[in-house]
Amino acid sequence: MIDLLSKLGRVTRAWLRMTGSMAFRIVACCSIGVLASLLSFPLAASGETNPARLLARAKGRVPVYYSPRFEAQALKYQKTLIACQRWYDRKVRKHVDFDLIVLNKEDWGMFTDKNMYPWGAEYPYPFPYSQPSVNGPSRRAFVVLPAHFEDLTDASGFADDLELLVENISYHELGHLYAKAMEMETSEFLGEMYADIFMASFVRARRRDMHVFLQGPPAKFQPQRYSSLADFFYLYGDVGVTNNIWFQFQLYHLSDVLIRDKSLLTVIAELKNAFRDSTLPPFNYVAAQLEAIHPGLGAEMGPLWQPTTLPDARPNTCTGKAGSDKHSALVVQNASTKAVTLTFKAMSRSVAPNSWARIGGHPGEQVRTDPGLCFVFQDEPAIVRLPSQQRADLGP
Ligand SMILES: [Zn+2]
Repeated sequence: MIDLLSKLGRVTRAWLRMTGSMAFRIVACCSIGVLASLLSFPLAASGETNPARLLARAKGRVPVYYSPRFEAQALKYQKTLIACQRWYDRKVRKHVDFDLIVLNKEDWGMFTDKNMYPWGAEYPYPFPYSQPSVNGPSRRAFVVLPAHFEDLTDASGFADDLELLVENISYHELGHLYAKAMEMETSEFLGEMYADIFMASFVRARRRDMHVFLQGPPAKFQPQRYSSLADFFYLYGDVGVTNNIWFQFQLYHLSDVLIRDKSLLTVIAELKNAFRDSTLPPFNYVAAQLEAIHPGLGAEMGPLWQPTTLPDARPNTCTGKAGSDKHSALVVQNASTKAVTLTFKAMSRSVAPNSWARIGGHPGEQVRTDPGLCFVFQDEPAIVRLPSQQRADLGP
């Protein structure tokens, strides 16, 4: 049963698939035919319900659909992703067909409207994302990129060359599709890391100009609230947009270390073997597995390998108090030998032993555990460690 709790836990997943826009050297190729007429109005204006018919289109090994006026970006992204796809094909001996979609802000809004296009996603502009589904414009997987990543506030702090960064993120998005095709995506954190390992393999071999991205966040990136990879592991998108991007850079670095001395297929085999269990283990288990694959990884990652900075949530009396509008989260870590049942808003779910779950809620709301303890959402996310101190901590 997919219950409310697990759905809430995925609400912010969109932030993970962050990316930007781009435009690099235009290689206008006369062999690419633009089939659709160029339009200067957003999708909805025409009353057309199929976006693929309204967007301009360029044929090719990777068909690209794009907002009119952004042909240059579309063709550049198409070319760079074809090169990346060829690399992945060769290295993992597998081929993934996909469409590329490059949208400006207006068309993005139409495209991600689930009511209009069920196969779209709710990811906000201008964060690139990918979908492994087969319901895209050409009935296959797709990658969506923004036409102008500079529209994101503070984006200039992420890289000196934002177009180059978006191009780089497109490799990450394609990495998601390959990881999915190879049945590797077992959790949010590992899913991001797998996508990065694909990306890093290509960048290491073919894009010296992008090596700077593999070294972690740029020096000008401001320090962030959440600084442990365990924080990102547990909170994922709930760390906030900018902090999320900071972690993406850290995962770039981690992935690059993992693949530094090995082939892509070797690393994939090691990771699949280490994380074949579908339950969600705590971060220290994941860290230990990665350390076994690459001894010295923890030392190289430095402060990123520190314990989570999430504050502990204390059990409270169950009052049923209403919540505010602000979004918050509780990470429930079950270190006991028995499954624990959580109840939230009349929905319940079980958390397996030595596993965890993230629940999204509002400050003031509470999650009940089966011993009858309640944990209240605070303004900031917190971690519930079970078994807790039980009633001794409840106070008067
Ligand atoms: Zn991603």
